[in-house]
Amino acid sequence: MNDRQDGHTLETLAVHAGRRVDSVTGSVTPPLYAATTFERDPDTGTSRGYSYQRDAHPNGRMFEAAMTALEGGAWAVAFASGLAASLALFRAAARRGRIVASSGSYWGTLGQLDGLVREWGAQVAIVDTSDLAAVRDAVGAGTSLVFVETPSNPLLALSDIAELAAICRGGGALLACDNTFATPVLQNPLALGADVVVHSATKYLGGHSDLMGGVVVGAVEDEWAADVLEYRAMGGAVLAPFNAWLLLRSLATLPVRMRTQSVHALELARRLSGHRAVSAVHYPGLPDHPGHALALAQMQGFGAMLAVRHAGGAAAARTTPAKVRLFTHATSLGGVESLIEHRASSEGPASRTPPDLLRISVGLEHPEDLWEDLQRALAG
Ligand SMILES: *Cc1c(COP(=O)(O)O)cnc(C)c1O
Repeated sequence: MNDRQDGHTLETLAVHAGRRVDSVTGSVTPPLYAATTFERDPDTGTSRGYSYQRDAHPNGRMFEAAMTALEGGAWAVAFASGLAASLALFRAAARRGRIVASSGSYWGTLGQLDGLVREWGAQVAIVDTSDLAAVRDAVGAGTSLVFVETPSNPLLALSDIAELAAICRGGGALLACDNTFATPVLQNPLALGADVVVHSATKYLGGHSDLMGGVVVGAVEDEWAADVLEYRAMGGAVLAPFNAWLLLRSLATLPVRMRTQSVHALELARRLSGHRAVSAVHYPGLPDHPGHALALAQMQGFGAMLAVRHAGGAAAARTTPAKVRLFTHATSLGGVESLIEHRASSEGPASRTPPDLLRISVGLEHPEDLWEDLQRALAG
């Protein structure tokens, strides 16, 4: 199903995809189906589509239908977290060959590739995917998957999805894109030639910092889809029905949230670039960002994540988040409330993030209030 090809706009899909008025009660909003088990047909069949919650459940299917439509894919499989989603994809890839992944990927994703995935016996190459020549060198015969995260976390580096897709087609590999930072509102990897999209639904899709979830969306119904689904049923990392229900509720406001939060982030990024306590701002919406032209070409907005480098170095960066009042000093991102963290501390001793870096998730508060708070924290 590709509703985008049926002519629906993103805004309309966000409200309606995967949903319908409940036929039994007329309820305008979807019911929450908490059941773990479903009644069988007299002949033991499952003509109503469900048997056990770990295999599939109604709220999960609604969320999957919505994500399939929003990303313009053919299938979606929802998981208990973003990392559960990426692990299912890596499992499918490891069976087929080598994995090449962005060095700018979320640290937990890199942790899976360095740890579990190598333990499975798969070969893994970590490369800078914004360097197309490096990717061309890395994608040899036997590569099953190239995994790109763009914009990257936490440096907001961009990789060219269409060019990477061309390299993958030439090398017989699938291209997967972690679309967590951009969401389908700002970036459509499948339309740019990627084969698979992965999300941490914990972030913008959920949008309120109150649920964990993940999802894999694929462009064509193939054996990868079957493998990802099988890994969920066997691995057991199932999206809870209540989280699926919350996600469907949240998706309706995703376009409005993303666009407004992006406007706020651009405003803060501009102001921060002129602040004397800031030595650099990483935000693709700024003209001096190395990926700015690419952002204009492949994104429909610059997103609501930014990172700044503290001119006072690591020590000053480490103490800044304790001084905010309106922002919350916490990890994670994508909620309606603004968050700030010293990223290297969150990632721990093995972190490769610059120690003077503060990661900021910009929310829906008024940008003037956010600016006042940041200014005070940076000054003091
Ligand atoms: C948070 C995050 C993940 C992992 O998702 P969880 O839901 O925390 O498991 C993966 N990729 C990106 C870009 C993220 O921000």
